[in-house]
Amino acid sequence: MHALVYRNRFEAQAMIHTHALYATTISCLKEKLPAIDYLLAYSGGPNVKCAKYATYGTHELAENALEAMKGRKAVLLANHGINVFGGNLCEAFDISEQPEFCARLYWQTKSVGNPVILPEEAMNRMVERFEGYGQ
Ligand SMILES: [Zn+2]
Repeated sequence: MHALVYRNRFEAQAMIHTHALYATTISCLKEKLPAIDYLLAYSGGPNVKCAKYATYGTHELAENALEAMKGRKAVLLANHGINVFGGNLCEAFDISEQPEFCARLYWQTKSVGNPVILPEEAMNRMVERFEGYGQ
């Protein structure tokens, strides 16, 4: 799964796969993680998609994850966890914290009401800002 990302996304120099609790919770809904907070833009897109379920360790799961990761640096793996990549390990770690934070916000807001999702245009502006941040 990691090798397929490295071969297909030249900007991926480090990848992290976790079973982070809240991201995995949302992955069990087989829904994308929507823009509940602007920090989700660290993931490289307006949301984090959920890859179709496949058995762990299979080429099918790797293909599903790569497909759902198009235009993004993160992907939920249905009923499993999350993958994130960055230009180096520190960046990948920093990016990995944001979808987990946002997944927790999403879960918490859904438990008390209807979360208000940020518009895609606003998220795309944040993605551009984060791409140039610190340079
Ligand atoms: Zn796993």
